[in-house]
Amino acid sequence: MLIITKISDIKINIAQLKQQGKTIGFVPTMGALHQGHISLIKLSQQQCNVTVCSIFVNPTQFNNANDLKLYPRTPQNDIEMLQQAGCDILYMPEVDDVYTQTDTRVFDFGYLDTILEGATRPGHFNGVGQVVSILLQGVAPDKAFFGSKDYQQVMVVKQLVKQLQLPVEVVACPILREKDGLAMSSRNVRLNEQQRLEAAAIPEMMKLGNQLLKIYGITETKKYIASVIATIPGITLDYFEVCDAETLMPLTEYKNTIKTVSVIAVFVGNIRLIDNWVVD
Ligand code: AMP
Repeated sequence: MLIITKISDIKINIAQLKQQGKTIGFVPTMGALHQGHISLIKLSQQQCNVTVCSIFVNPTQFNNANDLKLYPRTPQNDIEMLQQAGCDILYMPEVDDVYTQTDTRVFDFGYLDTILEGATRPGHFNGVGQVVSILLQGVAPDKAFFGSKDYQQVMVVKQLVKQLQLPVEVVACPILREKDGLAMSSRNVRLNEQQRLEAAAIPEMMKLGNQLLKIYGITETKKYIASVIATIPGITLDYFEVCDAETLMPLTEYKNTIKTVSVIAVFVGNIRLIDNWVVD
């Protein structure tokens, strides 16, 4: 695996590969890799000739300085995992290679920036827009692979690509979960044993919620989920919403004719976890 730290070197390498007729798949990450990330690498390998992964903890998407400071960083292990997975190129830059000057761009993602993650993490999606646009313009992949675990992020990235008219296909990939259903996340390593046990309640509640909302409706289900979470000492609910899966607009009434997704954000201690389950 080629490890590159300069975007100028990425551009040279990619131009050569494209001249040879190779298609490029790209998996942007913030590192502390787990099998969820590797599943994106595998999908890229199935669909493209060359797979590029990036590891960059993007400061502009953190609206909480402590969250940025505590974000897990495991570069050596990440390199080994990517090598084992057969990734071709790893782009692992320092901040000043990505941001050559302060990025003052402000994107307009419309309502997507004001609901759910947009509402509770002001500026987060603007930071995502900044880094993803720089990475997509630098790597210039044919396809970019994003996890549906960050459901709203996928929608924001699709919008970004449309607005900037970038010639890349955004591929939304399935969520990989631990055996007990907890969505894999780099933040899970910060959970202590007790918190890890409690976090397993999240997917359980989501599955139950998706059954209940068909019987009792969305309002009652939301109240029920909030009341159950209130009984778990280590977990605080940030939000639980039931949304139109196409638009992510929160719904008040369940209709089986509308593709529906439940979305959740909780704090386990001070560790923020998100998840979503499509209602089948
Ligand atoms: P992150 O390093 O958390 O920024 O994630 C990098 C990419 O991996 C994003 O597109 C995430 O949505 C995706 N991802 C994170 N966790 C999972 C998971 N459990 N299953 C599938 N994709 C994931």
